[in-house]
Amino acid sequence: MLTGPIMVTSSQAEKIVLLLNEAFPSTHTFLNHKANKDYEFLFAVILSAQATDASVNQATSVLFKKYPNLLDYNDKNKDGILTCVKSVGLSNTKVKHILQTASILINQYHGKLPQDREELMKLPGVGFKTSGVVLGELYDYPLIPVDTHVYRISHRMGLVSNRLDPKKTEIALEKVFKEEANIHLHQRLILLGRTFCKAKKPDCLNCPVRDYCNFFKKNSKKEN
Ligand code: SF4
Repeated sequence: MLTGPIMVTSSQAEKIVLLLNEAFPSTHTFLNHKANKDYEFLFAVILSAQATDASVNQATSVLFKKYPNLLDYNDKNKDGILTCVKSVGLSNTKVKHILQTASILINQYHGKLPQDREELMKLPGVGFKTSGVVLGELYDYPLIPVDTHVYRISHRMGLVSNRLDPKKTEIALEKVFKEEANIHLHQRLILLGRTFCKAKKPDCLNCPVRDYCNFFKKNSKKEN
């Protein structure tokens, strides 16, 4: 039996990846943004804290149309920006972070995003998870950012020790999946969480990775 932060073997991890690839053959970025506007993706991720991707996409479809340039994100437009994103919740704080971040990007980074996790995390509203999502989604960094779905699944399945916080969970997951660690695996875990491993009532009987899941094994034993 494995102890420490990593709780599955390399061959188990490989099998889990294969099963997830089969179950969810195509993946995509969940937050809409223009391909040539990386800052839009960052703003969408900032807006997504404690909000659904659908609600963020709805708000940004209006926001990004009304304010199509990074220079538009300034105090003069604050009220208009707030109106566009009010529905996602915590809008005052999120807009404050977006305006501060826009100013830093313009003044310190020539309007580009820094492609470095430490530098990204210095931006207002950008923590460990957000920086990982940005680097993984936009620049293919080999990361598995841990959101609520990835965290729940990792601990239910017993992929990593349940004593780990989200940051340590990400680091451990990247060791579990080694060269398979990437944003597509992150997206597939989210799809697994949305489709089968829901927070309230997981659909274990139909779940593609149930043979590798501690939660399923424990509950099957209880029923027998
Ligand atoms: S078997 Fe159940 S608990 Fe395990 S990952 Fe699948 S849905 Fe989640």
